[in-house]
Amino acid sequence: MDVSEGGNLYDTIVIGCGMAGLAAGIRLAMFGQRVMILEKHNAPGGLNSFYFQGGRKFDVGLHAVTNFVEGGRGTPLGTLLRQLRLPWDAFKLCPQIGSRIAFPGMDLRFNNSIETLESEVARVFPKDIDAFRKLRKVILEHDALNLESKVQSAREIVGRIIQNPLLQDMLFCPLMYYGSARERDMDFDQFATLWKAIFEEGFARPLEGVRVIIRALLERYRSLGGTRRMKCGVKRILAKNETAHGVELETGEVLEAKQVISTAGWAETKLLCGSQRTDPDILENTGSLSFGETISFLDTKPAELGCGETIIFFNDSDQFHYGKAENPFDLRSGVICFPNNYDYGRSGDLPEGILRVTGIASYDHWTRFNADSYEAQKRNWFPRIIKSAIRFLPGIDWETIEKRTVYQDMFTPRTIEKFTSHLGGAVYGAPRKAKDGRTELSNVFLAGTDQGFLGIVGAMLSGISIANKHVLMSGR
Ligand SMILES: Cc1cc2nc3c(=O)[nH]c(=O)nc-3n(C[C@H](O)[C@H](O)[C@H](O)COP(=O)(O)OP(=O)(O)OC[C@H]3O[C@@H](n4cnc5c(N)ncnc54)[C@H](O)[C@@H]3O)c2cc1C
Repeated sequence: MDVSEGGNLYDTIVIGCGMAGLAAGIRLAMFGQRVMILEKHNAPGGLNSFYFQGGRKFDVGLHAVTNFVEGGRGTPLGTLLRQLRLPWDAFKLCPQIGSRIAFPGMDLRFNNSIETLESEVARVFPKDIDAFRKLRKVILEHDALNLESKVQSAREIVGRIIQNPLLQDMLFCPLMYYGSARERDMDFDQFATLWKAIFEEGFARPLEGVRVIIRALLERYRSLGGTRRMKCGVKRILAKNETAHGVELETGEVLEAKQVISTAGWAETKLLCGSQRTDPDILENTGSLSFGETISFLDTKPAELGCGETIIFFNDSDQFHYGKAENPFDLRSGVICFPNNYDYGRSGDLPEGILRVTGIASYDHWTRFNADSYEAQKRNWFPRIIKSAIRFLPGIDWETIEKRTVYQDMFTPRTIEKFTSHLGGAVYGAPRKAKDGRTELSNVFLAGTDQGFLGIVGAMLSGISIANKHVLMSGR
């Protein structure tokens, strides 16, 4: 625990030591603010943390760092590193090998060069290539970062440009899986942001996983005199006359601050301000999309089994369904990730093969069991999830995966809620975002997931933007 000198009065208290909280904390400490980051859990990183189990290092969330462009100049990743005064190689990112969107009888490959996707669309959907190019132009000209903009339906805008529903679904599938809190549709700002992050820029990963990024952020924050307390949940935000003056911790201790930045989520922050879980606006704006993931460590590299791709987004149905899971695990679609399949070059190689399969999972199902039944459910679902995914990996069968697996783990919506306190285990938070970061209290601001910038890069950019806009530029 870092302890601030001079008692319990801070310029800014940041709730949450995930990507958004750390980035906001760095930015504020850089300008001489006395900052305290408070985190409920013992590990930093939030939704993108890491853990050790069975002698192995696990990443909680990381499939890919998006927005990767070599050198980063003029891109969101470059901007955020510059704002945090971190060198370009701080996160030690290595580019993906190549990914695929797999629908029944139809594949679109893509990598970190948009030309690959464009030529794939021309090959598979020759009649729709002009519409694809037109959509791309609209996206590139769209200012998705305007914090004051109104919500627009991406399905409507894309549908007006691309008539082919299959191509629409294939383009929506990766973007929804990597950042939509809304069922069936997305806000066009978010669609455009994720399009750029995934298709125009691309995927990368540090060889040693997310801990490299977290370590770089923690060191930077500490070097600037920023302080943090772990295992230190905030119970209440204390306010008078619609202005916060501090927080009460779960231990009863009170810390005073001139302002609070909360990365806990929109509804979660409202609860900290005194709302009830049964309040209609909280019920209406709590996310209903949660996920589960299987992680299998293999005694061989995926490439040796014929799997050389980085990420595969799959769907087996006529229409791609992205919505609340009606079954414990929605086996119709999902994401396969092989962390081995990045171009690590001279950085080295991962010691074992790793297969991750992610899909939409039911919060209601996974939270209703006692501990024993919960473990039994996981054992039951694990092979079903992998069998459903490997339908999209030609040449691979369940027997091979089973024989080659040396260790495995699985997380569910229950795990996500336990370790991040996001209501309903909603990874992407509330369907309605608070883009301007304002809350009902004049000096409490939202950053991260529910401000609307998602993913690792998005969350960090959100922390920076909110710290800049509401604290540094307003001279607080
Ligand atoms: C399984 C999974 C896979 C993912 N894969 C990727 C990926 O490959 N690439 C990518 O870019 N993104 C990925 N993401 C999304 C990405 O992790 C998140 O969008 C991002 O990390 C959100 O960061 P955040 O700081 O906004 O929120 P969070 O990470 O949720 O941080 C909020 C923090 O606040 C803390 N907190 C909450 N309430 C309190 C309280 N009362 N007191 C104190 N602390 C509190 C929480 O414990 C948490 O640490 C994935 C997420 C998951 C779950």
